[in-house]
Amino acid sequence: MKTIDLIQPCQNTACEQKWYVFDNSTKPKCPFCATSHKGRLPILNLYSSRRVGSFMPDNHRLMVYSNQSLFMWHVNRLITPNERLDDRHKKRVGYFVEHNGIWYLVNENMPDLRDVDTNVDIPQGSKVELVDGLKILLSREEGGRLVHVQMAEGV
Ligand SMILES: [Zn+2]
Repeated sequence: MKTIDLIQPCQNTACEQKWYVFDNSTKPKCPFCATSHKGRLPILNLYSSRRVGSFMPDNHRLMVYSNQSLFMWHVNRLITPNERLDDRHKKRVGYFVEHNGIWYLVNENMPDLRDVDTNVDIPQGSKVELVDGLKILLSREEGGRLVHVQMAEGV
C-alpha cells in the first residue's frame, strides 16, 4: 500500500511506463524518460492518533494527482485494504482535483474533516485548497488520521 500511494503519472504522453514511484525528492521526475513534473504537486504525510490529542507519523505518504481517490484506509490506520474489507469501506471518501494550478481535496464522505490550525470544518460536499503546511484532521475516531500537506514544486 505504501508504495502504491507513492505512484505518480508521468506527464510525458509518449512515456512507455506512464507511472512511476516518487523517490521522495523535492523535484519529482520520471526515472524512465527523465521528464520532470511541471507545476505544483501536493504530498500528503499521514499521521495517526495513538491516544487522544497526540499524533504520530505513520511513515506513509500519499502522492496526489488529478482524480486520485482518498479511501477509508487512508482516513483510519485501523482499516486495512484486504479481502476481508467491509463493503462500506470500499467506496472512496474524497478525491483530489487541480483547477487553474490550485489543488483541492473534495470531501465526499468524511464527517469529521477539519482544518486543525483554524478549527474550520470542511463539510461533506465542499472542498479545501491544499497549501504547504496545511494540517487536516480526517477522522476523530480511534486510529483516525491527520494529514500534513507539503507542496513539491516541479520545473
Ligand atoms: Zn516518463
